[in-house]
Amino acid sequence: MKKLHQLNFENTYARLPDTFHSRLYPTPLPAPYLVSFNANAAQLIDLDSAEMSRADFAEHFCGNRLPPNAEPLAMLYAGHQFGHFVPQLGDGRSILLGEIRNSAGELWDVQLKGAGITPYSRQGDGRAVLRSSIREYLCSEAMHGLGIPTSRALCIVGSDEQVYRERIETAAVLTRLAPSHVRFGSFEVFFYRGQYDQIATLADYVIARHFPDLADAGDKYLRLLDEVTLRTARLMAQWQAVGFSHGVMNTDNMSILGLTFDYGPFGFMEAYDPGYICNHSDPRGRYAFDQQPQVGLWNLSRLAQALSPLIPRESAETVLDGYAPAFYEHYTRLMGAKLGLASVTREDIPLISELLEMMQASRLDYTNLFRSLGQFNSAAEADNSQLRDQFIDRATFDGWAAAYRIRLQQESGTDSERKARMDRINPKYILRNYLAQIAIEKAEKDRDYSEVDRLLNLLAKPFDEQPGMESYAAPPPEWAQHISVSCSS
Ligand code: AMP
Ligand code: MG
Repeated sequence: MKKLHQLNFENTYARLPDTFHSRLYPTPLPAPYLVSFNANAAQLIDLDSAEMSRADFAEHFCGNRLPPNAEPLAMLYAGHQFGHFVPQLGDGRSILLGEIRNSAGELWDVQLKGAGITPYSRQGDGRAVLRSSIREYLCSEAMHGLGIPTSRALCIVGSDEQVYRERIETAAVLTRLAPSHVRFGSFEVFFYRGQYDQIATLADYVIARHFPDLADAGDKYLRLLDEVTLRTARLMAQWQAVGFSHGVMNTDNMSILGLTFDYGPFGFMEAYDPGYICNHSDPRGRYAFDQQPQVGLWNLSRLAQALSPLIPRESAETVLDGYAPAFYEHYTRLMGAKLGLASVTREDIPLISELLEMMQASRLDYTNLFRSLGQFNSAAEADNSQLRDQFIDRATFDGWAAAYRIRLQQESGTDSERKARMDRINPKYILRNYLAQIAIEKAEKDRDYSEVDRLLNLLAKPFDEQPGMESYAAPPPEWAQHISVSCSS
């Protein structure tokens, strides 16, 4: 484990041509203080957790002091935002310090989000607020706990500097770690500008760093697109299975590695409703929950277009044709596992879809219903009344339960073995908006960050029972039914 001054930055992105980024320094943050530190993420860069107690720790993780060999920069990208192409976006408030190679040989980007204006800030102030930083911090670690690929979060540093959003808030800097911050939009910007050699340069960079096995293949760019397609399909399957809505699936928020990325107005499904819109800035529901899989494909088509100077068109289309089957295969496997089925066939699909329809009709909590399904008793005489009583239409439930019981009898193992298996895929704890809200209010009002830390620990192990924490699995209280979250962050 390393001390702060021992962290060794490599600067591979900085070595790319100047067109890829702008060199700059973070804007100093007045009187920074540490809000929360995540020891699990510190391990990714071999950072000794004891370093968080240093008096100057916050100074380092808001950009006031820089590691000697960091070469800070803002990355250039473009993107399709709500269907419309914006030729230039770029890191408007994030600054990449560089990459750290850990003892396992992995290279991790270290990025300060909210570190001040950059040449890509447009009208923005370059800052992030404490509220949205806490949301990203908790959600990225919650997703990691759920086994879903994601960027990670090392710490939050706060300040009393005022920031104007829908109301006055205070500034914070989130230190984000990710194997890469390259987005679909990182390619789109060069396609739009007609800088085709830069597209190849970036593709070669991504291949060298993340897909070295492809480096010598004659069709390496096509295979890169294939990898990204499969990873995106699997990620969408994981989001759908866990009930996660991203909220702003613009192509600039789509990771080239298929990571969940750029957390904003996200939301976990509570009362099950496939048309759920988590972002109140998206009234038409372009990014509604049930739209996510097809948006994933639409976004991949934009990436394929950006790679078109490198890939024959028919080949790219063939690759994209593989998206839907890959998504469905993964999604049905995950949903089958949520029902306790070791393998899923076409015949099982009605069992899954009918359960979802019943859950929607009864507005049941998505997470809690699946968790309680683990207790289903498959004996013929069992009444399963605890489960049954949650559904409004009992007759429909009885029909479904009879079919489920017959199906379970084809599985090997006992009910309790099945429950143990199901408890490893059906989480008990998710980051409910109201839980985040309580932690945010304590942080904003009283500078009390204990609830942030408590949630961080809870969500690191979402499948464990965690005695004493049961109330954190409760569906939202009345006051929290209509918390609204927007793009404003
Ligand atoms: P997002 O909605 O967070 O994915 O951001 C979309 C684009 O707006 C990106 O280019 C961001 O860097 C930029 N952006 C978002 N918030 C700010 C801000 N407060 N200041 C400057 N740029 C911002
Ligand atoms: Mg973004």
